[in-house]
Amino acid sequence: MTDITHHTPDALLAAYAAGTLPQPFALVVAAHISLCLKCRAAFEAHQAIGGIVLEGFDAVEISPDLKTNVLSLLDAPDQESDVYARTGVYPGPVMQALKGKPPRWRRLGGGVKQNILSADESGSVRLLYIPPGQAVPDHTHGGLELTLVLQGSFSDETGRFDVGDLEVADEDLDHTPIADYGAPCICLAATDAPLKFNSVLPRVLQPLFRI
Ligand SMILES: [Zn+2]
Repeated sequence: MTDITHHTPDALLAAYAAGTLPQPFALVVAAHISLCLKCRAAFEAHQAIGGIVLEGFDAVEISPDLKTNVLSLLDAPDQESDVYARTGVYPGPVMQALKGKPPRWRRLGGGVKQNILSADESGSVRLLYIPPGQAVPDHTHGGLELTLVLQGSFSDETGRFDVGDLEVADEDLDHTPIADYGAPCICLAATDAPLKFNSVLPRVLQPLFRI
């Protein structure tokens, strides 16, 4: 695998370890951690710190359910390696979201395809398939967007993103990601708000495709 140069920001790792990250972003961070030893180590450090903080609250009563759940997790050490396992292009957490089946692509035009994994008021997360040299429609963001490269690579105004790289974009970034030549680019992308496209046609199509 190529070296990962764009990592998960520490604040997102901390939020993920604390369980406060909305599900669409949690899936992208989980997938990045499964590919990136550096961020996995940082995430596990956050988890350990969280555990120490919890130990400090010895007056807090723990429900029997929580105790059982924690104990059953401790009894299943193999689960962790399953979570990080990769099936072809797709990291373990993405395979779980796909329920072990191949993606069901829907065409967006220009050869670009998507498979929405989940979409609700907390945001949406999808797989995107972008043919070499093809641009994802130009858009600005109403909120946060995380994009993780699973196959191929793309470039935009901020740099080049290879397999395992995570791009963090917010409402200030007006960018045009273009898939590099080579293998088609497959990405996992999460947003907490609908994307606002700058050209008229995609804006008209937006409600249809829930972009
Ligand atoms: Zn990383």
